[in-house]
Amino acid sequence: MRVNITLECTECKERNYLTSKNKRNNTERLEAKKYCPRERKVTLHRETK
Ligand SMILES: [Zn+2]
Repeated sequence: MRVNITLECTECKERNYLTSKNKRNNTERLEAKKYCPRERKVTLHRETK
């Protein structure tokens, strides 16, 4: 049931993280506060399509 997803920075659109999620538990797009190496700060990252 787990699918691989990519997390993209909502500010600079850099794709920084690969992760996986459980499709049954998380039907919405995943969002997480993550460190963006490009901006060198923590930003909101969102699952890409
Ligand atoms: Zn960024």
